[in-house]
Amino acid sequence: MPAKTHYRVVILGSGPAGLTAAVYASRADLAPLVVEGGGGDDPTDVPGGQLMLTTEVDNYPGFPEGILGPDLMERMRKQAERFGTEFEAGELKAAVLKERPFRLALTTGEVTADTVIVATGARAKWLNLPEELEFRTKIGGVSACATCDGFFYKGKDVLVVGGGDTAMEEATFLAKFASKVTVVHRRGELRASKAMQARARANPKIAWLLDSVVEKVLGGPGRGVTGAMVRNVKTGAVAEVPCGGIFMAIGHTPNTAVFAGQLEMDEQGYLLEHDGTTATSVPGVFAAGDVADHRYRQAITAAGTGCMAAIDAERFLQH
Ligand code: NAP
Repeated sequence: MPAKTHYRVVILGSGPAGLTAAVYASRADLAPLVVEGGGGDDPTDVPGGQLMLTTEVDNYPGFPEGILGPDLMERMRKQAERFGTEFEAGELKAAVLKERPFRLALTTGEVTADTVIVATGARAKWLNLPEELEFRTKIGGVSACATCDGFFYKGKDVLVVGGGDTAMEEATFLAKFASKVTVVHRRGELRASKAMQARARANPKIAWLLDSVVEKVLGGPGRGVTGAMVRNVKTGAVAEVPCGGIFMAIGHTPNTAVFAGQLEMDEQGYLLEHDGTTATSVPGVFAAGDVADHRYRQAITAAGTGCMAAIDAERFLQH
């Protein structure tokens, strides 16, 4: 149960966006409540967000030796705690945002809030192969973020699954490190924009397995990924493709279902922001991090918008 029934600021989500908002809001004496999230059906849906599923983070400024994703989140959490942020395990079940104070039904009780910062993030889509989860979280070698993990595949052959802009972007990025990148796409035609396709097609390190799907990830503890069983959907032929890593680029889903009909979203469900701020379509509700960003999706950009959302909320409360 939350300690109070009313808060000036409730922050939904405990990834870099939520925790940075918490650091700023608590330093502004707003005593925020952070609803940590996680605990849903998806076992990778955990407090701390997507960084909890990452290993080394080498591109977060201030950590010249790199830092493990979960360690970075632990540090952010401690920093927010230091200034009096209250944390509540569980997640938001329902929200009434049509009048203030906003009403939020959490898994552990109901609270009201003068302002809400939505930092519920997005989740990568996965193939949902039976062995995939273990490779993602324990064994390693299956990732959904080339910017985060590409560096670790220096000199290896890797697969990129998907045929959209993200797949082209990931394949092009990975080609800088990997010895060979093979794009595996389930149809004969790519979905990606012409320009991004052209760039990827012009890269001599990128190969193509079209009309093909990954059916099984091969490898195991200590070895990581050693290959994939790939089926040609036209011929039915199944072949083993050796590789040292597999990057899924089959899209992301923002965690916004609970706000359907209340906050303006684009057709993919990402929250829309207004006037170059973090303001959503409802005055007093702000968005931070991947929930409103399908372009950058980085820990540092999420943290930056978390800071912006806390400042926007503070200014809103002054009026
Ligand atoms: P997307 O456009 O939805 O493409 C997802 C791809 O994954 C599609 O090729 C799809 O195949 C495939 N796919 C989906 N589910 C699959 C499954 N279960 N098994 C195998 N393949 C599967 O997603 P996105 O590439 O992440 O792009 C999302 C949005 O961000 C787009 O609007 C894109 O233009 C934009 N974006 C822009 C840039 C840029 O401009 N720099 C970069 C990245 C993304 P089908 O084609 O058969 O449906």
